[in-house]
Amino acid sequence: THAMKQAQQEAPLEVLRRHWGFSAFRQPQQEVVDAVLAGQDALVVMATGGGKSLCYQVPPLVLRKPAVVISPLISLMEDQVMALNAKGIPACFLGSAQLSQQVKDDAWRGKYQFVYITPELASTAVFKLKELQKTAGLALIAVDEAHCIAEWGHDFRQEYRHLYRLREALPDVPFLALTATATPKVRDDIAANLRLKPHARKWVMSFERPNLHFSVQRKQSPLAHNFRPLLDAAARNDLEPTIIYTLTKRETLEIAAELGSKPGLKGRVAAYNGDMSVPERRRVHQAFMNDDLMVVVATVAFGMGIDKGNVRTVYHYGAQASLEAYYQQAGRAGRDGVRSTCVLLWSAADAAKNAVIKSNDYGSAEAASQRDAGTDAITAYIHTPGCRHRSMVEYFAPGAWQGVRCSGGCDNCEAAAKGGVAERDLAAEARLLLATVQRLREMGLGTTVNVLRGSRSQKMKPWMLEMTAHHGTKLHGAGMQFNDAWWKGLAGMLTGCNLLSNKTVSHPGQRAYQVVTITDAGAAFLRGSDPLVLQLSGELLA
Ligand code: ADP
Repeated sequence: THAMKQAQQEAPLEVLRRHWGFSAFRQPQQEVVDAVLAGQDALVVMATGGGKSLCYQVPPLVLRKPAVVISPLISLMEDQVMALNAKGIPACFLGSAQLSQQVKDDAWRGKYQFVYITPELASTAVFKLKELQKTAGLALIAVDEAHCIAEWGHDFRQEYRHLYRLREALPDVPFLALTATATPKVRDDIAANLRLKPHARKWVMSFERPNLHFSVQRKQSPLAHNFRPLLDAAARNDLEPTIIYTLTKRETLEIAAELGSKPGLKGRVAAYNGDMSVPERRRVHQAFMNDDLMVVVATVAFGMGIDKGNVRTVYHYGAQASLEAYYQQAGRAGRDGVRSTCVLLWSAADAAKNAVIKSNDYGSAEAASQRDAGTDAITAYIHTPGCRHRSMVEYFAPGAWQGVRCSGGCDNCEAAAKGGVAERDLAAEARLLLATVQRLREMGLGTTVNVLRGSRSQKMKPWMLEMTAHHGTKLHGAGMQFNDAWWKGLAGMLTGCNLLSNKTVSHPGQRAYQVVTITDAGAAFLRGSDPLVLQLSGELLA
């Protein structure tokens, strides 16, 4: 009977050609499909736009058995259901309010090839899923956006922590977890929390997005100066789809109003944030999809799962709280593979804003310390003098970077090519900064730098002066020769070298704030006499 079944089955490549009209699988789709067909669990980590959907859409069509797909992204599920139905493949999303009882009953009876459900529904549907497995058999259960399982991650969903119940109730069904964002720790978390089988296969694809250009700039005022290329394009009547992410809802309105008043942008810009009504948000989303609106100024509420291939520029007005969050949002540019641009506009105040946002979030002490690690990572990214592609690839997949320079391009590689980078030994300056951090015991970076620069402002408390008065060298005023930005830049680089670290401090009833602390490695460096040769560019070279 096994041979007979084989004979009836269509080969995966045939399925791909017949239903999608694609001539070949991309890496590693074929291997993932084979693993699932062999009944194995699998974890696939692939950049946005890499082609994760086909990994779970092909096996059920080969096996002619239903599959259940779990995702938190309702609009994405609706899009996929529409696309599958358009190919004549029966698929449904068990979440829309208009759904008839008939569809639901049919879905659980195995009448649909693909049943899309939310994690909320999944965690209460164990019984129904077992019935489905008994009557029709299940080709697989796909858990999309699997990083939502990480409690301290940027997209945490409580319901994801209950999905292991499905795995336990359905020991013979292959589980396929997919995500575009995962550090090694998140990957371990996914495997452990979903109770993937010990021999689950794992694919971690390169995170490099060679069609994206990355750059980082300090925020400027007036506001409009930050968006010069956009204004120029608008004036030439040459606008392309652009997302501007902000840290706060208020900023979405301010920036949308400001840009909307410029030539060529009137009526083409809209804000998008969680305070807007659902119909209003839907309208903006739809207008952007149709290219009626060219610029959306949004909080992160926008776009988890927007499937618009031709977003040409993603600006971030303010640094996100973690490099994962930044990379995922910036990665919405250029999903169609065409050259696109990601610009991060930051200021030193962003970390403080994030500290307040973060402290309102759910989370344990472990979660808080992981989020601080996220802040360290984005701080290091902002201040790195090296290739930005490289710093991201190395963060997400340590050891995976093979290139010498990025192919997509970044501001730092361009500066280096023009000779705008030099090496210097900054051991003495680094020790001054580290000593001040250590002496002040967990103050904000602004205060720390003010002490070094000899500030006599009212905010300079007597104890600060005293603590930094004697220490071999007097620290207060020891760093006058460099400006504020220079010291903060150095602090960012020392964070990248793991000598300094960020920490969010929150006391009940108080606004949370961000402090800098010295790491063990930083303390060891401070005591020693090693040199510290750093590559410098931009304002640090001055
Ligand atoms: P992800 O879910 O990883 O972000 P998608 O599954 O949405 O990516 O795929 C991104 C795009 O790549 C889609 O337009 C899809 O049709 C296309 N694609 C995926 N696999 C292939 C393939 N083997 N050949 C050609 N195009 C593909």
